[in-house]
Amino acid sequence: MIIVPLGVASATPTATRHLPSVALWREGDVHLFDCGENTQMRMLQAGLKRSKITNIFISHFDIDHYSGLMGLLSTLQLQRREDPMSIIGPKGIKKYIDWNFKFAGIELNYDLNFIEIKEDIESQKVVDTDDYYVEARPLNHSRFCVGYRFQEKDKPGKVDAQKATNLGITEDEQFKALKAGEDVKLEDGTLVKSVDIVGHPRPGDSFAYVTDTKYCPNAVKLAMNTNILYHEATFSASLSDKAEETGHSTSVDAARVATESQTKLLVIGHFSARYTNPFILLREARENFFPAWLATEMRPIYTNPSLEKDIIKQRVYMKEIDEKSDSSRSDGKTYDKKSSDRGGNKRFRKRRPQNSRKQNSRSDSGERRTKRQEKPRYNNDDSENRSSRPPKHITPRTPFDNFDRF
Ligand SMILES: [Zn+2]
Repeated sequence: MIIVPLGVASATPTATRHLPSVALWREGDVHLFDCGENTQMRMLQAGLKRSKITNIFISHFDIDHYSGLMGLLSTLQLQRREDPMSIIGPKGIKKYIDWNFKFAGIELNYDLNFIEIKEDIESQKVVDTDDYYVEARPLNHSRFCVGYRFQEKDKPGKVDAQKATNLGITEDEQFKALKAGEDVKLEDGTLVKSVDIVGHPRPGDSFAYVTDTKYCPNAVKLAMNTNILYHEATFSASLSDKAEETGHSTSVDAARVATESQTKLLVIGHFSARYTNPFILLREARENFFPAWLATEMRPIYTNPSLEKDIIKQRVYMKEIDEKSDSSRSDGKTYDKKSSDRGGNKRFRKRRPQNSRKQNSRSDSGERRTKRQEKPRYNNDDSENRSSRPPKHITPRTPFDNFDRF
């Protein structure tokens, strides 16, 4: 399972952050959670095939969360898609899409299967296949909003083929029976037990998508023991009043849900445009729940990195990431994708105490130190540089955004 954030802004996009959408890649299929207006382009840039979309889950009807839906669906029409697709969302989603296509005079050449969620549910299994299911639960926002949990079903245990052969199993049918949990009786009367050959079932991976909500128990239920919890952190704790008033979470709320649900990894996103540097939110979240990452658009998050590492290849790089990598290279080496991929998160974790950092920078050559001090403060690709720069100044506003909205 691979999670690719496609848009990590909240209601107002910024020069570098797009409207909300998160893609989940599994076994070649793509499942979208929310569909902000940039989603289809972001998918292209991230190296995800739009034709592979199987399900689209919409959390609620704030426009920024579904404004990309019609554009994406009509692109698929132009691409002559034939495979059916499911669209899951609060009640009303079918009416919205039907009306739009009727208005545009388009008759779709592929089937849309709508699953609508009513407001009075406690929980609802909105998708159920042989391999996975998806559960929806209402959250606590200013309007009806649902969170989702994508759960792979347990995978059968591994068959120890060598051991089976040694015990006298030769036929395919016998292997199949053992795998299905049945014991096999050989011709000489020996009983080969399934439990001796087949290992324990392996638990399936899980992902929870919780956005646009205050802290609520349903968020914890959705995220319980997940591999990855994607949780909104629109505000920092200093703006908890505003979060309460608008039905959003702070980074501390996100960490609380992560702690109570015992998720393996918290990924925060849906940042208010006022945070030009969202690391302040990550720092706050990590003070309360350590395995926390910042959602970075188009940077994949893996549940099994050793198997999944090269499956999704980005087509473009965010300008700001490129520039960071380039400017951090005083040795004149050219930009290298791998070093960027290892990027911010890992280095961010390796903070050393103030004293040892000072000593370290003193041991640098004089020339090098001067060069590094002149670099822009966003240079987080370089841990040594961090040691010599003044504390981060968080710019409260840029001229581009309207911060009364979020
Ligand atoms: Zn939102």
